[in-house]
Amino acid sequence: MTLIVQKYGGTSIGTVERIQAVAKKIVKAKQAGLDIVVAVSAMSGETNRLINLAREISASPCARELDVVVSTGEQVTIGLLSLAIKELGVEAVSYTGSQVRILTDDAHGKARIQEIDAKNISQDLQQGRVVVVAGFQGVNNNGSITTLGRGGSDTTAVALAAALSAKECQIYTDVDGVYTTDPRVVERARRLDRITFEEMLEMASLGSKVLQIRAVEFAGKYGVPLRVLSSFEDGPGTLISAEEDGSMEKPVISGIAFNRDEAKLTLRGVPDTPGIASQIIGPIGDANIEVDMIVQNVGEDQSNDFTFTVHRSEYDKAVGVLNGVAKQIKAKEVVTDNRIAKVSIVGVGMRSHAGVASTMFRALANESINIQMISTSEIKISVVIEEKYLELAVRTLHTAFGLDMDGTG
Ligand code: ASP
Ligand code: MG
Repeated sequence: MTLIVQKYGGTSIGTVERIQAVAKKIVKAKQAGLDIVVAVSAMSGETNRLINLAREISASPCARELDVVVSTGEQVTIGLLSLAIKELGVEAVSYTGSQVRILTDDAHGKARIQEIDAKNISQDLQQGRVVVVAGFQGVNNNGSITTLGRGGSDTTAVALAAALSAKECQIYTDVDGVYTTDPRVVERARRLDRITFEEMLEMASLGSKVLQIRAVEFAGKYGVPLRVLSSFEDGPGTLISAEEDGSMEKPVISGIAFNRDEAKLTLRGVPDTPGIASQIIGPIGDANIEVDMIVQNVGEDQSNDFTFTVHRSEYDKAVGVLNGVAKQIKAKEVVTDNRIAKVSIVGVGMRSHAGVASTMFRALANESINIQMISTSEIKISVVIEEKYLELAVRTLHTAFGLDMDGTG
């Protein structure tokens, strides 16, 4: 029999009615002849509520006990969903992470799965049962409950799919798939039929928060095909899988990602000597500030301009650190700007097509949008622009690369 792992997120099972609707969907798939293992989140809002309860008692709660508290959200939903499936006349059985034995390391709150014992689940499937597993949780070698980090149910689902050699891991959520870009910015954004793991990682890290990044990495590593679907309407969703050997004519660019929460800092007149980059970025890292893009260029007088971007929430802190560095290394000046945004085009097709960058830059130039920084990877080109042009830039690129709903570029 074909085995499918399905994962339902918090909004999909946020009320009793929704749990009943999900049970119907599961039963339908079961009756179509599939073996079904389900991973579930807690009801929406529940994990936050539990964390807040713990915080009311302790400002910095013991990580082991916090995991005992927050893992209960999923224990409620596995029980309720199993009951709802049984009500429809299909046998179902629930398991917590430790009952399955999803073995993790000891890192409470961000534990990593080490091993899944598939024995019980396989037996239940053979008996014709639907198996409902609590997402987000596992157990360490000492028998303590652990949790995998926020959004961790996606990872549970992928890990189960890998351990059970499922045909597909289906992530049911409140959107009907992965889009070419944010439909709130581009009305003509399209749902993608498929996208590669690599592309999805680039899109996700740039703010398309459909899936937990770690789950996508995991799926890519183990070659588990992932499908994102709506739990509220029928449809094919978006398949995330490994790249196919070029049989189909694929679009060069799969999507446009963007991020408006960035800030840019430049040190002008930096001495052109070895060690300077580390003298600048070192203290930034020491202050726990994450750096995104970095560009360095030799200016007229053999001194460098050194520019980098950080998350906007770290802007003030970064400016403070950089002013100190500037004095130390005798840079000419610090110039900063926290009204910038980053726009990226993503696509594995870039590898085999020339002229993608020039198409991108021409499209932006036609709209008189100035590019302040550029960075590239094998399957992505990112530019930094003035924040106020963000929407225009995303729309323009979406059209320029033929991604609009009607397919015309
Ligand atoms: N309930 C957990 C959370 O809210 C895990 C999940 O939803 O995936 O983060
Ligand atoms: Mg969630």
